[in-house]
Amino acid sequence: PDNIKKPFYIGAIDEGTSSTRFLIFDVIKRKVITSHQIEIKQKYPQEGWVEQDPMEILTAVYECINKVIEKLKELNIDSSDIKAVGVTNQRETTIMWDKKTGEPLHNAIVWLDMRTTTTMDEVLDSVPNKTRNKNYLKPLCGLPLSPYFSALKIRWLIDNVPKIKQSVDAGTCLFGTIDTWIIYNLSNKKLHITDVSNASRTMLMNIETLKWDPVLLKFFKIPQTILPDIKSSSEVYGHIEQPNCLAGIPISGCVGDQQGALLGQLCLKPGQAKATYGTGCFLLYNTGSNKVDSTHGLITTVAYKFGKNPAVYALEGSVAVAGAALGWLRDNMQMMSNISQTQELAERVKNSGDVYFVPAFSGLYAPYWQQDARGVICGITEDTQQYHIIRAALEAVCFQTRDILDAMVKDSGTKLSTLLVDGGMTINDLLMQLQADLTGINVVRPYMVESTALGAAILAGVGAGLIDISDVEPSQMTKFSPQINEDEKDLRYSKWKMAVERSMKWDLS
Ligand code: ADP
Repeated sequence: PDNIKKPFYIGAIDEGTSSTRFLIFDVIKRKVITSHQIEIKQKYPQEGWVEQDPMEILTAVYECINKVIEKLKELNIDSSDIKAVGVTNQRETTIMWDKKTGEPLHNAIVWLDMRTTTTMDEVLDSVPNKTRNKNYLKPLCGLPLSPYFSALKIRWLIDNVPKIKQSVDAGTCLFGTIDTWIIYNLSNKKLHITDVSNASRTMLMNIETLKWDPVLLKFFKIPQTILPDIKSSSEVYGHIEQPNCLAGIPISGCVGDQQGALLGQLCLKPGQAKATYGTGCFLLYNTGSNKVDSTHGLITTVAYKFGKNPAVYALEGSVAVAGAALGWLRDNMQMMSNISQTQELAERVKNSGDVYFVPAFSGLYAPYWQQDARGVICGITEDTQQYHIIRAALEAVCFQTRDILDAMVKDSGTKLSTLLVDGGMTINDLLMQLQADLTGINVVRPYMVESTALGAAILAGVGAGLIDISDVEPSQMTKFSPQINEDEKDLRYSKWKMAVERSMKWDLS
């Protein structure tokens, strides 16, 4: 009958570090109707450099969309039932392109890339009073100086790629993180925008005013003309013009992937936290409209902003290498042929045999922020087998999570009783159990682990006026409770700390 409301769907483009996805949601029921995923190649032109091809990303986005539209047809769903689209993305990754041709002027420099270590060294010299204080800009942008964030990547591109320097001087160069690049192209070059959550990862936005900050721009010598407009995370920015199959649909949500996951997990209240385990691992702790300054190595970030409502902030702890360590064990150590074997292989031994693996391949992020740390595997004996090392790689993710949780408790003064988790690695039940054991708190995994994309879809739905956030139904959950005693937990953590000590300052200078 006519009085039954026709279902409507919301699309989410989720451009992660290892792959691009397009998903169609029934947001209210938290249900993925269909999706398509394409892997994205990482290029390593030099040691410590990580790049991706912006055109490959874009082609993958379009292909995912086209494939999803075909799959919808098979389900007898018309593309006109998609009422809004949101974008979520790997953060900090930097693209610069020419606004006349729309062509990228260089490959994207991926967040993991370490090439700006020397740029950072030079920049530290310009900190007043020769203190070389990494936290000098933290009061303005919430972040410590690190090659991780976009500002140094932009600086490097302007200084080292003549084409980019010329384009900046000629006033034809545009910068964007991945969200900006995708929305620019979906809108057929009409929108050059980003949202507050992505902008808060550039080191160029003032964390209070939510505007590009003249002091930061001057410090990094970056002209404002290349920067996108900063919008909220949830409003109608414009409409899709390409690909054709989605033409006319509003683009009404935009959010960095980790902040998207916080929303997708419905961590809407201060004190709620989630951890997303993918290439890296990221913990976000909602602090509401209060901007909390960390004194324990965490960073302050904008979580999201619904239209004209005040911004919601979060404390964040990021781990550079989580799932990526398993890729390394597979590709470089040939310890497995497929990452899906991880759990089965790690379960061939009953513990890690006192082996500790700190996968600090590109330094350590929170709470250590040591860019000259390097990986170590210690505690090896003649009995050590590859299974112990695989298990130690899983435990490393758990210990790094504990490092960050401890910092969050110190900064916020409240202890978490539950950690909500999501991301590609959480399919691994052993990892989930180890996480509960090694932190001593309950680990709770929703049935539907695509929290990041769901977050973008929620923002798009609210932004287009289709739903209220309270309409989204809570998820069913699987709970993992701690099963080892406190003493064992703390003993193991002390050993981890010893291993971390050994990984630090791996540099003669
Ligand atoms: P991203 O968003 O960073 O691209 P995903 O959330 O898609 O990452 O997760 C991919 C990561 O999950 C990879 O680094 C991979 O090593 C890890 N992973 C995939 N399957 C498993 C598994 N069964 N056990 C442990 N880790 C896994």
